[in-house]
Amino acid sequence: MSGTEKSKNGSQHRVMLPGHTTIGILGGGQLGRMLTLAGTAMGYRFITLDPAKDAPCGQVARQIEAGYADEGAALELARQCDVITYEFENVDAGVAALLERESYVPQGSSLLYTTQHRLREKRAIEAAGVRVAPYREITSADTMQAAVGELGVPCVLKTVTGGYDGKGQRVIRDAAQALKAYEELAATGAELVLEQFIKFDCEISVVVARSTAGEIKTFPPAENIHVNNILHASIVPARVPADIQLEAQKLAAAVAESMEAVGLLAVEMFVAADGRLYVNELAPRPHNSGHYTMEACATSQFEQHIRAICGLPLGDTTLLSPVVMVNVLGEHLEPVIERTGAPDGDAIELGVIPKLHIYGKTEAKTGRKMGHVNLLCHDVEEGLQWIEQTTIWRNTNS
Ligand code: AMP
Repeated sequence: MSGTEKSKNGSQHRVMLPGHTTIGILGGGQLGRMLTLAGTAMGYRFITLDPAKDAPCGQVARQIEAGYADEGAALELARQCDVITYEFENVDAGVAALLERESYVPQGSSLLYTTQHRLREKRAIEAAGVRVAPYREITSADTMQAAVGELGVPCVLKTVTGGYDGKGQRVIRDAAQALKAYEELAATGAELVLEQFIKFDCEISVVVARSTAGEIKTFPPAENIHVNNILHASIVPARVPADIQLEAQKLAAAVAESMEAVGLLAVEMFVAADGRLYVNELAPRPHNSGHYTMEACATSQFEQHIRAICGLPLGDTTLLSPVVMVNVLGEHLEPVIERTGAPDGDAIELGVIPKLHIYGKTEAKTGRKMGHVNLLCHDVEEGLQWIEQTTIWRNTNS
């Protein structure tokens, strides 16, 4: 460990070398598992805190089996680890404060505080000089009516906290729907925000890393296809002009710099028809749309996160091959696994190399993320064709 320097947001720069360092992960899902697999290869040890028996991460790391808000368990994690990170953003505020006090949490809690709340997040993005969809805070039926008048239709009403995968959202297509949408979401008790609907050509995301030393590197933008509000596929290189890709990477870096983020920050954006970029959401952790980096980039997002929080120089983010990542949901798991038992004729014919990742979850529920396939290809159209030819995702594609 080297001497420490404090940054504006209170995080410190310490160099935590492999072989001497145990990393604690709050959360034991697939993101924790893939962080552990990447970090173990580098020589770090891992302990995860998760309430689920045999959690995906608990299969590859030591596990403290307890709830995320269990302060006693968090204290135990702090005692056993040299550095702590998290794999989901809804970390309990009390636990976050306790861990910061009792251990070393280079990501700090201010990034979590900001990204847990859509309004705070939008303000932070704007403070970085980056565009978001025009929005209004909604505090009553009257403010709702006024905001719909100002922003026009269509627009999207969202809960400020707790929404994910399209939950806690209502698209308003005409003014008559506004009050009903407001009443439905206001009943949840959450604060609300109304956003102008951006008529986008496509959705892209950039995973950016900022280290405790302040070094920043971005991964190539991924073009993301959602089905039923769940990420279906990420296509890299994204099929958008090179100047827009460069701009997207610059914006992501500007947001990470301005927020003094440490670790990974996934920046989701809309590409509007006129080429303008609007940031929709941030996630201060490894992101599903960054899974393609595992085989397609010189450094994976998971290795990069470990490097960033441990104060190592960041790894090279060069794209080594075009790639399509397709998610394996509960309904896709069996046919995907079955295919691995025999030579894959479609892949051979197309010149595509499928790399399968399965997360070790016991129950394969419909819509639940069970794994993903990274399809290394010469051209992303071949990867997309493989997905089509297997017919496994046919219902999701339609
Ligand atoms: P979110 O929960 O904010 O990630 O939104 C889920 C999805 O809804 C996004 O991936 C978009 O496809 C769509 N969406 C959300 N907000 C907007 C918006 N302001 N304009 C257009 N589409 C949106």
